[in-house]
Amino acid sequence: MPDTLNNTLWFDPATCLIGGEWKAPASGKLLDLVNPSDGSVICQIAGGDAADIDAAVEAAHAARAGAWGKMTALERGRILTRIGQLVLEKVDELAALEAMDVGKPLGQARADAVALARYMEFYGGAADKVHGETIPYMDGYTVYTLREPHGVTGHIVPWNYPMQIIGRSVGAALTMGNACVLKPAEEACLTALAFAHIAQEAGLPDGALNVVPGLGAEAGAALSGHPKIQHVSFTGSVATGALVQAAAAKNVIPVTLELGGKSPQIVFDDADIDAALPFLVNAGVQNAGQTCSASSRILVQRGVYDEVRKRMGEAYSELRVGPAGENLRLGPLISARQKEIVSGFIAKGSDLPVAGEGVIVDHAPEAGAYVKPTLFADVPADHPLAQNEIFGPVQVMIPFDTEEEALAIANGTDYGLVASVWTRDGARQMRLAKALHTGQVFINNYGAGGGVELPFGGVGKSGHGREKGFEALYGFSQLKTVAAFHG
Ligand code: NAD
Repeated sequence: MPDTLNNTLWFDPATCLIGGEWKAPASGKLLDLVNPSDGSVICQIAGGDAADIDAAVEAAHAARAGAWGKMTALERGRILTRIGQLVLEKVDELAALEAMDVGKPLGQARADAVALARYMEFYGGAADKVHGETIPYMDGYTVYTLREPHGVTGHIVPWNYPMQIIGRSVGAALTMGNACVLKPAEEACLTALAFAHIAQEAGLPDGALNVVPGLGAEAGAALSGHPKIQHVSFTGSVATGALVQAAAAKNVIPVTLELGGKSPQIVFDDADIDAALPFLVNAGVQNAGQTCSASSRILVQRGVYDEVRKRMGEAYSELRVGPAGENLRLGPLISARQKEIVSGFIAKGSDLPVAGEGVIVDHAPEAGAYVKPTLFADVPADHPLAQNEIFGPVQVMIPFDTEEEALAIANGTDYGLVASVWTRDGARQMRLAKALHTGQVFINNYGAGGGVELPFGGVGKSGHGREKGFEALYGFSQLKTVAAFHG
């Protein structure tokens, strides 16, 4: 897509932002950025490493000690709001970049850009509404709490939803007055760079946001283990999340981990199947299944199992997969490597009935990372496809008889991010909302439109800590108690 690139790339992609200056990485190392729709090299990006991270962390501390650290909450909020306005003005450019870089169908990339703006609006408005409390205490004392930033926060972001994850994590951290060092994914970092340019244009002081693209094992590891980082927010795989937590533990700093899931939708016999159907399919195939909160397990009570299986299968046959710019239901996966991983999982299902498959369009380039969406039926709850996060457009259908059985299956993985319950029985809705081991439960919907207002995060191997909503603002700050004795 070179023409699109010329039209959309308004910055030098081979640079890091450190202390307000765009610089080549100290080592001079560059990495190829690949377009997953056709396998072509889009451009080169900075291969930042420990030296660049070190400079970025120093710049962030300088910002905390300088203009950024002295700003009022109102002023910070105004800057965030202004970033949101500029993001909205550039929605089409941001969407084109993301589509090219991630392989996301253009419409989905656009929705992500709008969500980024929404995070800035939400947090911009919230900046001066987070405050401490006074605490009634012993005679002679006045006691109150102060909400203070951690200081310098690290943000390690994956490739699947760069704009949304930057919005929820960097947005909330800046709101509380932290200075941020952002390490975007080496597979997709263009919108992170674009966002930083926009933030500068909106008046964000130098060093409040620093961006160092680079490999995970180099820039990522250097950031999570840096002795002067005071909080780390990580979204990605369980294995890397464990490394990040171990690195942070050496410096005894708090960590937020968002590590994906194996999220179920549970469909009971009394459910409104017409209403459920679009959610059952879309929550599995959106972003080609590369969504931490993807619904990859569909649990269906036997009374409606055959109907749901047939109708989901029909919906799958309508799914078209092709280049991101064509804005079909699915684009390619992020990379040839991811295609190999997902194809390996699909091969593990050779013993299972296939209830539905999508179609890769004929003209999809050979070198693109395309995978056929696949719906497996009658999958035992302990099958590897029903237990592991696949991160591709693959869903499994699992039949069940009773509510107790459904709950045991739903809670029967290492993960616990999201679940949904489709039933008209109000008491059952309430019972399951309490009994499901997840960070979010949806009743007769899935995802609730992804609202920025809704706290989000997991239990078990899905991670810990909450982002989004006001809860993120508490996570990106710490509470100080002041007890004054005056007699
Ligand atoms: P990853 O966890 O390795 O990468 C995510 C981020 O962490 C990237 O920015 C990467 O550069 C960085 N990173 C990698 N190694 C690091 C290290 N040692 N220290 C610090 N940071 C490091 O994920 P991946 O390799 O891109 O994908 C592998 C699998 O992870 C996928 O198949 C999928 O199952 C899962 N995944 C989940 C999410 C999610 O949103 N939950 C996102 C991406 C990937």
